[in-house]
Amino acid sequence: MQTVEQRIATASAAAGRDPEEVTLVVVTKYFPAGDVQRLHALGVRDIGENKHQEASAKVQELPPAVRDDLRTHFIGQLQSNKAAAVAAYADVVQSVDRVKVARALDRGAERHDRTLEVTIQVDLGGDDDARGGVRPADLPALADAVAECSRLRLKGLMTVAPLGAEARDAFERLMQLSASLRADHPEATWVSAGMSADLEAAVAAGATHLRVGSAILGSRPALR
Ligand SMILES: *Cc1c(COP(=O)(O)O)cnc(C)c1O
Repeated sequence: MQTVEQRIATASAAAGRDPEEVTLVVVTKYFPAGDVQRLHALGVRDIGENKHQEASAKVQELPPAVRDDLRTHFIGQLQSNKAAAVAAYADVVQSVDRVKVARALDRGAERHDRTLEVTIQVDLGGDDDARGGVRPADLPALADAVAECSRLRLKGLMTVAPLGAEARDAFERLMQLSASLRADHPEATWVSAGMSADLEAAVAAGATHLRVGSAILGSRPALR
């Protein structure tokens, strides 16, 4: 935790940025609710989860005082048939990449009488690398569709740096897309980029949100 905070402070100073502008989302996937409670006690207020079943069970296990004090970010690939259920507990959904998913989230939020903050996940890899994300050419139409959903608040963009590419190049491209998005949707100021391996590049490019798992919690059990 301290190491990552120090990395963010150093990268912010190098970029001439205030570290307070950068929100650290601690990715707690594969780690139990007890670890989420410990993180909360250390001052963490934003957590990230990427699988619906795991996230839903974990959030329900938390004491209400902790749960209500956390912002839960859903960051995983989302099928439209699960999206309504995610709206029951997520505060933020970072991985919206299709109109169908946006509409399902909107219906779920309506059903639970909530509003959700969302970012659109952008695929900067070009080829189908199965990480999800809308292609840049389709971003404006998706952003308009999200903005029309009464229970969703369009907050900005998210990406996962493509495998094998320079993270820095990907994040700079994301910043350009963010600037064009803000021309039409000035409220969409969030830029979620950067994970354990590339958070410095994300801070340098101008990210507002980092999603960091293993550098804080240690390595996860083998990927499923
Ligand atoms: C797991 C995950 C992260 C965190 O990755 P680390 O390398 O453990 O920091 C960030 N973003 C997404 C979308 C993830 O699934």
